[in-house]
Amino acid sequence: MFTLFLPHNTQNMAQRRQTSILLIYTGGTIGMIRNPLTGALESFNFDHLLRHVPELRQFNLDISSRAFNPPIDSSDMNPSLWAKLAEVIYTNYERYDGFVVLHGTDTMAFTASALSFMLEGLMKPVILTGSQLPIGVLRTDGKENLLTAIEIAAAKNEDGTPVVPEVCIYFHEKLMRGNRCTKISADSFDAFKSHNCPNLATAGIEIQYNRHLIKPYDASAKLKPHYAMDSNIIIFSLFPGIRREVVQKILEGKELKGIIFRTFGSGNAPQAQWLIDALTEATRQGKVIVNVTQCLAGSVKMSLYEAGRQLLEAGIISGHDITVEAALAKMMFLLGKKLSPDEVRRQMRRNIAGEIS
Ligand code: ASP
Repeated sequence: MFTLFLPHNTQNMAQRRQTSILLIYTGGTIGMIRNPLTGALESFNFDHLLRHVPELRQFNLDISSRAFNPPIDSSDMNPSLWAKLAEVIYTNYERYDGFVVLHGTDTMAFTASALSFMLEGLMKPVILTGSQLPIGVLRTDGKENLLTAIEIAAAKNEDGTPVVPEVCIYFHEKLMRGNRCTKISADSFDAFKSHNCPNLATAGIEIQYNRHLIKPYDASAKLKPHYAMDSNIIIFSLFPGIRREVVQKILEGKELKGIIFRTFGSGNAPQAQWLIDALTEATRQGKVIVNVTQCLAGSVKMSLYEAGRQLLEAGIISGHDITVEAALAKMMFLLGKKLSPDEVRRQMRRNIAGEIS
């Protein structure tokens, strides 16, 4: 861990303590350098961050860091590690004004979604970022992403309240609500998009905040962390030619409690009776089935076509315009609370953390 105490304006200091940021490095490309001998990418010792990003010294901020040991590729993220992240934020909540989480891009949208539910009552910025090229590579996008994410996490209104008191992803000039994002490119620097919710800010020469879209600050809110996530669920995507035996096998699963059902267009499925019967039976057994469109943008409207209306009758509930990442995290979170299937269904329909419009 390092702490940077940087030169500051003494008059300012007398009035207010320095803004403090906790950087949490979980792993991923951003924290890598190329081994000159083997040419392979390896995680660098995060204690040496300053050597790779000396620009951090120019911030008038008190920046500390924590690193996952060992750092992980985000493909290895899981609900226990989300809980660990939530716990680090919770235990350091009073001490820091904002949090920046460095994370691999592959599952960043899942982690951001999970944190948005697990950190109930959050009123400080938690900004996730990463990069497509390692920070130790000349053309890296990691420096800009990291420096701007820190600036956003430290941004305050005139009255000292945070500008962005919520979980976000900052990537390639865009600040997006964490539970509205999807990774859209494996190789472009512009790797994330929030299809159904406008960006919360755009970083050009200045950072332009869309304040009307950002969660309002509430001084009376208390952070209440939730660590239990129930992952006995599945993401199940329809395709033309899907087989009855396969669907039945999946839906019969004894352990299975929830299904993120990825349908066509505005929430449509083949009008085969065997499919409707299998879904109706799964619902009857207490499995929660949420309809999420395979389209990247737009919303489920099951009453629009007969192919969707039948699903409504089978007890499937609409995910509206939720992303698949947020639907998954929300279902794990609600099942983790040990609510009844009906209560999980009720809460899946409502907006809890800005995840649906
Ligand atoms: N595989 C890496 C990860 O998600 C890719 C990245 O960091 O962008 O951890």
